[in-house]
Amino acid sequence: MQDLKTLIRDVPDFPKPGIIFKDITTLLKEPEALRRVVDALSERYRGGGIDQVLGIESRGFIFGPLIAYQLGCGFVPVRKPGKLPAETIAETYQLEYGTDRIEMHRDAVSAGQKVLIVDDLLATGGTARAAANLAARAGARIAGLAFVIELEFLKGREKLAGLDVFSLLRY
Ligand code: AMP
Repeated sequence: MQDLKTLIRDVPDFPKPGIIFKDITTLLKEPEALRRVVDALSERYRGGGIDQVLGIESRGFIFGPLIAYQLGCGFVPVRKPGKLPAETIAETYQLEYGTDRIEMHRDAVSAGQKVLIVDDLLATGGTARAAANLAARAGARIAGLAFVIELEFLKGREKLAGLDVFSLLRY
């Protein structure tokens, strides 16, 4: 998996000075690398009885549906404010750069369903924590949280204590 790191581009000072943005578009365009990432993330949860993959906007929308397709389960978008048309539940959270809010349709997940939360990258863990809170409020059982990249020095895992956290590439 380490060789996949060579396909991730560091973009300094994006979107703000001091942030080194991990650009995954350079990995996505490589057919074999894309397949390896999706297969590795899916394999870990195969046979795990996942009902829904919750993908976090925006880059969780790239990997989430591919994993859901592989697992034969559904996909639920967790979106930025004002994007979902029907009744929503929302969580506000602290981001590595600023504050934000995410929303999910109130009826997207049924109580007792087993969900897997997917995003491209775990940084401070605020976004993932908010998504886990939404899933918990909907009555879901959280099977785990899966990321392509984890920035370990930001200690996002600490915000997700008690939950199963998996990442492929750690920095
Ligand atoms: P956090 O809530 O701090 O864990 O931030 C996670 C979210 O912000 C994910 O959706 C990431 O895509 C995005 N993000 C945060 N930091 C970076 C970074 N250095 N490079 C790329 N994406 C990032």
